[in-house]
Amino acid sequence: MSESGNKKALVIGAGLSGLAVAARLSSLGIQVDVFEKSADFGGKAGILNQGGFIFDTGPSLFTLPDYVDEVFRYCGKNPRDYFSYTRLSTLTHYFWEDGYHLQAPSDIQLFAKRVEASGADSADAVKKFLSHSKRIHELTEKVFIRKSLHKVTNYLGRETLNGLLHFQELDTGISMEKAIRKYFKDPHIIQLFMRYATYNGSNPYKAPGTLNVIPHLEFGLGAYMPEKGIRAIPEALYALCRDLGVIFHFNSEVERIETRKSNVSGLRVNGQSISADYVVCNADIHTAYPKLLPDVQMPKANRKQEQSSSAFIFYWGMDAVFDTLDVHNIFFSRNYQQEFNSLFEDLKMDEDPTVYIHISSKVCPEHAPPGKENWFVMVNAPQHRGQDWIKIKEQLRKTILRKVGSVLNKDLAPLIVNESWTSPEDIERKTASFRGSLYGPSSNSRFAAFLRHPNFHKKYKNLYFCGGSVHPGGGIPLVMASAEIVSHLLIQD
Ligand SMILES: Cc1cc2nc3c(=O)[nH]c(=O)nc-3n(C[C@H](O)[C@H](O)[C@H](O)COP(=O)(O)OP(=O)(O)OC[C@H]3O[C@@H](n4cnc5c(N)ncnc54)[C@H](O)[C@@H]3O)c2cc1C
Repeated sequence: MSESGNKKALVIGAGLSGLAVAARLSSLGIQVDVFEKSADFGGKAGILNQGGFIFDTGPSLFTLPDYVDEVFRYCGKNPRDYFSYTRLSTLTHYFWEDGYHLQAPSDIQLFAKRVEASGADSADAVKKFLSHSKRIHELTEKVFIRKSLHKVTNYLGRETLNGLLHFQELDTGISMEKAIRKYFKDPHIIQLFMRYATYNGSNPYKAPGTLNVIPHLEFGLGAYMPEKGIRAIPEALYALCRDLGVIFHFNSEVERIETRKSNVSGLRVNGQSISADYVVCNADIHTAYPKLLPDVQMPKANRKQEQSSSAFIFYWGMDAVFDTLDVHNIFFSRNYQQEFNSLFEDLKMDEDPTVYIHISSKVCPEHAPPGKENWFVMVNAPQHRGQDWIKIKEQLRKTILRKVGSVLNKDLAPLIVNESWTSPEDIERKTASFRGSLYGPSSNSRFAAFLRHPNFHKKYKNLYFCGGSVHPGGGIPLVMASAEIVSHLLIQD
């Protein structure tokens, strides 16, 4: 209990989910303190200001914005008083080295027509696949995303029974790739849809066909950009927390979760014990268990889980404006299967990686000086296992400049006026994300969704977990969902 007589909760980590859970608990009348090891809030959703260019350092694609808005509404606030966003009319501009390229509008009819007109697959195939994607979403959202999968009572509702009755429609028994090949023949379109596996750091040749739900999130429900960029999301959540009275302690690394019989009694920070009625851990469980709960074994299923992929990112200030490029651009590898084998089997950077270029200054002009652009250039990378990233960086830079330069028919190196980079090792160090994974455990197995760590602890009744390493997974919407589940569990308990 706090001095005011209210219940007290301590949150470990001010990542997006830690911020959302802090706001939610505070609005329930609980006194909330957040401990963050770094000097800033937002975790992976950081910001970099370099030489007049502004970069969102982590997430760049914002889908399902209602999951963020819902946090504000739950707390009795109008989300539009904190941040706003617009829907992008073009989702992504896709390029291949064989000269084929496709600008994907968010309008499904238009996209389907464009695919057909380009001589690839039929418009009908595109529409059928996207309505299948929508169907998976309808069957899974309320069952697998918005609820704990680890409470028996949650299996008794009508929605869950409906989901289970139509289980065969979810393509759990085949890979994403195999499910996509049922609709398409053209290698470009197959590769385009397989890419959605990377939205949660997975391998389309292994992840279950259920992940073909992801295209619907973009095509059906839209890709968005907050005014002033992605950083506006953690800033809005932080402002909400402050308005609700949440207390933040930055540069405060939690050293231990303190336990007493079947409860946690609080945290140890800077050698001091702080007591609480509830603890919520937003830190990656793979670093939290050994460090914060050294006497407790992480559940076996979680110890064995394969992590999602990491990323190597260059932040380039470019002295030019590229009219052929959009906010989101992809330059595909020539051999996708080889690329995923390198990432997940050989744990090395592929020689010809797919390159993603995000240019937020196209819609947030304050992100670059006039006549210039901020290029966030990302390639999927293997988990950090001690690789020499400085050496890898030299080769990777050359590869990207050659690949993108040849497609755009431009010598890019002289246009880079400002540069920095981040490796998987940096991501691990800065956010305590196990092996630098972007999305916690991967979905590279049929039952991955059920094997994620629950949002509560089985032994310690007042210990909860939120964020990308636990159910329902990584990415902005899902980490919002985990905060929602924690607040519901806490009320139930
Ligand atoms: C390069 C990159 C690109 C991405 N792209 C996208 C995208 O386009 N779209 C999308 O939706 N998602 C994307 N993601 C994923 C998304 O960013 C994450 O899923 C999400 O931000 C994770 O939020 P989280 O709440 O799990 O917390 P995290 O961001 O993991 O933060 C956890 C916090 O806990 C703190 N912490 C850890 N241990 C301790 C301790 N002992 N004491 C105190 N504090 C501690 C850390 O410092 C950190 O601030 C991307 C991620 C990265 C890195």
